[in-house]
Amino acid sequence: MTQHFLLSAASRTLSLRSIYKAGEEAAYKVFCEMRWPETDGEAVCPRCSNHETYNITTRRKFKCKACAHQFSVTSGTIFASRKMDFVDLLAAICIMVNASKGVSMVQLSRDLDCQYKTAFVLAHKLREAMAQEVQTGEVLEGHVEIDGAYFGGHIRQENAKADRKDRRLKEHQNGRRRVVVALRERHGRTLPFVRMTEAEGVALANDNVSRMSTMSADEASHWDLLHNGFEVERVNHSEIYSDHGKHTNMVESYFSRLRRMVVGQHHHVSPQYLHQYANHAAWLEDNRRTDNGTLAQVVVSNAMGAPVSRQWKGYWQRAA
Ligand SMILES: [Zn+2]
Repeated sequence: MTQHFLLSAASRTLSLRSIYKAGEEAAYKVFCEMRWPETDGEAVCPRCSNHETYNITTRRKFKCKACAHQFSVTSGTIFASRKMDFVDLLAAICIMVNASKGVSMVQLSRDLDCQYKTAFVLAHKLREAMAQEVQTGEVLEGHVEIDGAYFGGHIRQENAKADRKDRRLKEHQNGRRRVVVALRERHGRTLPFVRMTEAEGVALANDNVSRMSTMSADEASHWDLLHNGFEVERVNHSEIYSDHGKHTNMVESYFSRLRRMVVGQHHHVSPQYLHQYANHAAWLEDNRRTDNGTLAQVVVSNAMGAPVSRQWKGYWQRAA
C-alpha cells in the first residue's frame, strides 16, 4: 500500500521549530530574498529601481543613494506598516499553510499571542496572497466541472413548532445568503466565485472556460444553457453520483473542504468575506500535494509581489 502524501516526510519541509530556531534575522533575510530575488535579497529602490542603497540596519530601513527615498523590505507590499516580528509573520504563514481546513482567527491570535484584530487582518492578507494564484484570469481547459453551494443567511428557528417560519420563502430570509459557484478542472485549477444565485454560473462558465472544454454538471435545470456553448455531461444526483464516469466529484470535494472550513473553523462568515474563504479553500485544494515549505515560500513571494523562485524549494530542509 502506498503511503498517503500528507503522512510522508516529503510533505513536511517546514516547522515552527525550524522557524524559531533560525530566529528573527534569518526570517528577515527570507523576506528580503523574496522581495528582491533578482539581486539575491539586496535592496532595490522601489521608486527609481536603483541598486545602490544605504542600509540603516538599526531600523531595518534602506535609503536610496540616487533619490534618497527611504523604504523597508515590506514597503509597498501587503505587509507594509506591519508591527509583527518577521519570525512571527513566518510562523503565521506556517500555521496557515499547515491548516488544511483553514484556521480560525481566535486560534491564530492565541498561537501567536497577538490581538484578535491583528490575526484577523493578517489572515486576510495571507488569503489575498493565496488568491493571486487562484484568480489568475486564465481560462480553464480540459474537462471542467461546475457546481454551486449555498453559504450563510441562516435563520434561527423558533422554539415552538407553531411559531416556526418556512425558511424557503423569500420574506423569511435575511439577504445574507450567497452561493459559491465553483469551476474545477479535472486535472488542475479550481476557480470559485460568490454570487446571489447558482444560475449565474452559466455566465461564469462562458467567461472562464475554454470553448474546447467538456463540462460536467448536475441535473439542475439552469445548467441546460451550458449546452449552447459546450459539450456537457450531466449526472442526475437524485439517482446516482457517478454514472459511468459522468460525475462532479472533483468540484464536490472542493465544496467539502470549503464547508468544513466555514463550519468547523469560522462558524460564521459574512457575505463580504466569503470570496476570501472560497479562494483560500481553492488554493488549499489545488496545492494539496505540495510540501508545506514550498507552500509557505509561495505565500511569502506572492505577498511580496515577486514571482516564485524555485531556488527556495527545500530551503528549510537545509536550514533545519
Ligand atoms: Zn531611488
